[in-house]
Amino acid sequence: MLDATLSRLIHRRAHIKGPLVLMYHSVADAGPLRPEWPWAVSRQRFREQLDFLRDAGWLTCTQAELATGGPSHGERTVAITFDDGYADNHGACDDLLRRDMKASWFVVSGSVGQPPRWQDPDQPRLRILDAGQLRDMHAAGMEIGSHTVSHARLPTLDDAALARELTDSRAALEDLLGAPVTGLAYPYGLYDERCRTAARDAGYRHASTTQSGWALLDKDPFLVRRLTVYNADTAATLARKLAYAANDVAWSHLLGERAARFLHR
Ligand SMILES: [Zn+2]
Repeated sequence: MLDATLSRLIHRRAHIKGPLVLMYHSVADAGPLRPEWPWAVSRQRFREQLDFLRDAGWLTCTQAELATGGPSHGERTVAITFDDGYADNHGACDDLLRRDMKASWFVVSGSVGQPPRWQDPDQPRLRILDAGQLRDMHAAGMEIGSHTVSHARLPTLDDAALARELTDSRAALEDLLGAPVTGLAYPYGLYDERCRTAARDAGYRHASTTQSGWALLDKDPFLVRRLTVYNADTAATLARKLAYAANDVAWSHLLGERAARFLHR
């Protein structure tokens, strides 16, 4: 109780330093409340988080709108983003539409409609959204952006390969959607000044990192900060994340161990 009440109090001033961006990956359909993959949230948890945002007065916009100074809702603006483009996000898109919310997807273009063609440890065998699903979501007002062709570690590539990852993925998604693609998310959040410049040269207008903080803290549309959302994030945790613009908002971290123990008595 105290956890929820204090979190709500802290959250009252959450919007005063500017808009925030949330980052999701998989939204696991049925199955357990606690998905095994750390980058997944359950559908049930996702809906709870959306209901919290709506009830707390947060209005959503796309990452393009947020990063490039498009329509602003003023206070309490949040952009919801999804990296990789897992097919289970199609259901998450329905959950958003039912609440009149918008979001942005950063899709690995070389894996559209297939299992991921890149390999990460513990990665579940999920499929990536197919062309029809991406077109549906785009038609419904969602932003579709790029997460490169192959989920590459961009700073490790030579100039030619870097340009190909950025340009080919953008072209493939534009062909698929029949519409401009202006957004990028750096795979693994990895970028450097060369990648940032290459993204701009490839025709993007905004790019997202995985650094936490207020979205536009760096005042640079190619370095948009985002908060990572985990399955364990209750409404109270999410409230504190938005208030502190930080990923680690455990009471033990915020208050020190003794005060946190008192709170949980
Ligand atoms: Zn990714």
